[in-house]
Amino acid sequence: MVLKILFIFFALVGYSFSMEIKQFYKNMYMVRGVDGMPSVENKGFMSNAYAILTKEGWVVIDSLSTPELSKEFLSGLQKIKKAPVKYLIITHYHPDHWYGASTFKEVGSTVIAHKKLNEFYKTPEAKMAVEASNQRFGGIYKNVKLIPADIEITSTYDLKVGEYNLSIIPTAPAHTDNDIVVLVKGENILFVGDLVYLNRIPFAGDRGASVKNWLKILKDMENLNPKIILGGHNQPMDITAIKFTYDYLNYTRETVKKLKDDGKTLDQIKAYINQNSPYKNFVMYDTFNDPNVYKIYNDLDLEDFQ
Ligand SMILES: [Zn+2]
Repeated sequence: MVLKILFIFFALVGYSFSMEIKQFYKNMYMVRGVDGMPSVENKGFMSNAYAILTKEGWVVIDSLSTPELSKEFLSGLQKIKKAPVKYLIITHYHPDHWYGASTFKEVGSTVIAHKKLNEFYKTPEAKMAVEASNQRFGGIYKNVKLIPADIEITSTYDLKVGEYNLSIIPTAPAHTDNDIVVLVKGENILFVGDLVYLNRIPFAGDRGASVKNWLKILKDMENLNPKIILGGHNQPMDITAIKFTYDYLNYTRETVKKLKDDGKTLDQIKAYINQNSPYKNFVMYDTFNDPNVYKIYNDLDLEDFQ
């Protein structure tokens, strides 16, 4: 009986958090993290990572939260095809996209990210953030070694790898002040980091975020007419996800703006939105909505002086 219960327990744990690499399109692969905040149970595997197999080798997009996770991803890719990882592209500096990067640096990949990720890397805060997160989330980041990008993105950067032509496009400030997206030209496949979601609430509370510019960027992305959109926290999406994200951010911003103009306090605005938001049943609402409202409220103050 005890053995049976143990077996079921491990089967469930193993099932929930095993890293299964799935092919979502020809030569393109992904791992899908669980929905939620990082924890000892999920080992920080709460975001997606992607890989494109080219004739020259792999291109990896985002590096997961820890070296342990990125090593598991790398060894899975090598089982699909033993080939060098030519490039690692990091969509932005959040832990679940950047903290696993050292694995790829160690195998000789060229690392590409926004210039502002490198600027952050050089500040003492970068290391302090790793330590603080490690304390907060049960030590899951203890083996993280931060690494900077070799190629810094400040304007659209075209990269030819094997038979693929990629366009790396800076889109900051939006979700952070160092977002980039990756367009696979010809195929119209777009890797968007944390800029697009479907039926899940985006996080707009990073201090470098700008919801105002994020809304503009979403329109620009819609104009690229992507066939498949790959984000940090969803299954592969189509263009309707851009509308979902736009509508949530626009509703929240417009509501905060109106209530603020009416003289309501931040707490009154939060209470009103938590009562009335059409988005309150979506994944991550309880975690991210209040910080999003707070950030939008404060940014409106700054805009008043511009
Ligand atoms: Zn993020």
